[in-house]
Amino acid sequence: MLAELTHRCPLGCPYCSNPLRLDPKGEELDTATWQRVLGEAAALGVLHVHLSGGEPLARPDLPELVASCAKLGLYSNLITSGIGLSERRLAALADAGLDHVQLSIQDALGESADRIAGYRGAFARKREAAGLVVAAGLPLTVNAVLHRGNIERAGTLVALAVELGARRVEIAHAQYYGWALANRAALQPAAAQVRRAVAEVEQRKQAHAGRIVIDHVAPDYHARFPKACMGGWGRRSLNVTPSGKVLPCHAAETIPGLEFWSVREHAPAEIWQDSPAFNAFRGTDWMQEPCRSCARRTVDFGGCRCQAMALAGDPRATDPVCSLSPHRAKVDAALLAETGAGSMPDYVYRR
Ligand code: SF4
Ligand code: SF4
Repeated sequence: MLAELTHRCPLGCPYCSNPLRLDPKGEELDTATWQRVLGEAAALGVLHVHLSGGEPLARPDLPELVASCAKLGLYSNLITSGIGLSERRLAALADAGLDHVQLSIQDALGESADRIAGYRGAFARKREAAGLVVAAGLPLTVNAVLHRGNIERAGTLVALAVELGARRVEIAHAQYYGWALANRAALQPAAAQVRRAVAEVEQRKQAHAGRIVIDHVAPDYHARFPKACMGGWGRRSLNVTPSGKVLPCHAAETIPGLEFWSVREHAPAEIWQDSPAFNAFRGTDWMQEPCRSCARRTVDFGGCRCQAMALAGDPRATDPVCSLSPHRAKVDAALLAETGAGSMPDYVYRR
């Protein structure tokens, strides 16, 4: 379960997948409601809780929520920008039973990292935060989102994660939802850049084998087949927004007409089993051709519904990044237009 505790965040990353209309502070679930939801999620069978945002450290009740996870036997992962992670706050979280920290890094070069984050001094504070996590004995994952502004340093980012003492590094290419879709023309890398990045990361995998786990998520637009988004709609994951809506994936609200139920009125088990949004694209019955008769339909589940909506205007369509999709030409046209010669547009920051 992804628990988006807040949309508030000191950074303004242009690739942020949060929606363009962020939930205001006044609409966030309170501590007692989150604690009830965590208990109900554990009863449903949830094993991992990703405490996310926005920046979850913006919530003063974070240690209480971590303690609830620990009491319920839920593995807790703090997904953080590192801004606001002091030694005192980390000690409180560790004492409450926090299991893992995932720290985002915007680039391996400080000046560029700060520009991407839209926050001066962020890079230095992230280095400090990594040091605190490692010193506290908590396992650290470094997460770096690749795009045109940093893709030439894919290998250097892995080296930085090793230097910071991370046990795992996640190199993920930007996914174009929310703010990332608004910034796509500034973020889209060229095919040659993607090939170089893939080769560099593969080389680092061999160089650092046994020292760090390197997860590299390939970029959709440059792939032949899509990924199984969220492991399949309504199959493995649920996402609770700051205001309490439960989504099958973090971008699901971009699909018009879906009815999302809230934890304010329903328990997660009821939402998981019976809510219209979770049942809309579960399994394979909803599929059109070419997915309906494709051998990969239970491998990738037709790809991403939000991407089908964004690019084909139809959430039931085959994900347009698929080479078998009748809409693939739109993806190729966007790649050509956005990665051709010409200056890179300025970022639109979240703030
Ligand atoms: S992607 Fe950046 S702006 Fe968005 S929540 Fe994460 S740290 Fe904040
Ligand atoms: S046609 Fe559909 S099921 Fe087949 S590979 Fe493409 S997206 Fe996957």
